[in-house]
Amino acid sequence: MSQTVRFTRNAANVFFHILTQCNLQCRHCYINPQQHGRQRLSLATIQNWLQTLARRAPGANLVILGGEPTLHPDLPQVVKSARALGYGSITIDTNGYLFNDILDRISPREVDFISFSLDGATPATNDPIRGQGSFKVCTEGLRAARRKGFRTSLIYTVSRMNLEDVIDMPELLRELKVEHFFLQVIGLRGRSANGREEAAPDLQVSREQWEAQVLPTARRAAQAGIRVTYPKVYLSADQAFECAGRVADNYFVFPNGRVYRCPLCEDYPLHSLLFDDDCLRPTGPINEVDLFELDIPEGCVMNKLIQPLNLVYRPDGTPACKIACCLLKEELPSIGIANSDQA
Ligand code: SF4
Ligand code: SF4
Repeated sequence: MSQTVRFTRNAANVFFHILTQCNLQCRHCYINPQQHGRQRLSLATIQNWLQTLARRAPGANLVILGGEPTLHPDLPQVVKSARALGYGSITIDTNGYLFNDILDRISPREVDFISFSLDGATPATNDPIRGQGSFKVCTEGLRAARRKGFRTSLIYTVSRMNLEDVIDMPELLRELKVEHFFLQVIGLRGRSANGREEAAPDLQVSREQWEAQVLPTARRAAQAGIRVTYPKVYLSADQAFECAGRVADNYFVFPNGRVYRCPLCEDYPLHSLLFDDDCLRPTGPINEVDLFELDIPEGCVMNKLIQPLNLVYRPDGTPACKIACCLLKEELPSIGIANSDQA
């Protein structure tokens, strides 16, 4: 039975991009150097910002990202500092190349999950999206992490480029002994937003495709013993819309100091907080917070502004359904033999 994971201030999340540099050039990469900078933060700055955020949101879950975060030579010290500051959980999101011998420089006790990104069940599907040879490197990296006792998750960004492969993922996840499977929908941000109007029909899957192909796969993965999380996307008539920007406590931190509360705003200078001289300060209007206050029949304001082609209207002009906040998730607990028992 799927369960909607509600927003709560008790579950603050910090998504910390410690650099924007990456060895890959994925077709759907959301990193936008013009908006997010090209800096690699120093260890001292990362530690200062982590401390500020830990004071503001004690016990927050921390996700360390890039770019590719393992390119940062001080990542092990970042992890240790975050542990010492009391972050509730620590996850490293990686493309699987695992630079700087990261698996030898941190221990499974220090991180909760290493999360790998893969966008196909085969090299033939994954590599045209993420780069030649990336399927092999990523799956080998994941196996190496499992052998060393790390808990692993896998992120699959669903688009029309890899929709057909998603049905083969439960078997691959089982073979790789992945414990948590995250399905994401491709967003029109960063590189995928180039030529935005043309990109939408090319990349985004329809509601019918999502319900016919993705959701049954999520259920099969759960039956195979894997915990599954995926975005809610569409709200039924009886479900109330909520904007996470109003009710939740999320921080999307970029190396140029911008801190967003909504990931859909990241392509624009709409951040509501800014690290300035290591102090976290609110920004002036107009920023994302002004958008969170708007009530529209379509649900999410940012979705309507940047992804209008995924809205469907009835003949009378009313929206056929509301689009959920992109941060609202459904979760399927593992209901088979859990992969965590098989390390
Ligand atoms: S999506 Fe991730 S792995 Fe791919 S290019 Fe962007 S930062 Fe690198
Ligand atoms: S995605 Fe939409 S609903 Fe969610 S925080 Fe952003 S503006 Fe609000």
